[in-house]
Amino acid sequence: MSSSDHAAGRNQSTGTAHAVLSATADLPAPWAAVCGASVDVVQGKWNGPRGLGSADPCRECRRLTGS
Ligand SMILES: [Zn+2]
Repeated sequence: MSSSDHAAGRNQSTGTAHAVLSATADLPAPWAAVCGASVDVVQGKWNGPRGLGSADPCRECRRLTGS
């Protein structure tokens, strides 16, 4: 698993960015992050500004994706 295989998801209530498997990001909502958290929106790549580059990327998602 690498960070480029993931999309950036966001939990609206906490503002935390989570990593979502690219394969599941194409499916309709709801989505689940690799850490198990639910996300409300999926926007862009996990290794982009809305994922790792955001203000609050999920620590567990970073660990699980090795990023
Ligand atoms: Zn997460």
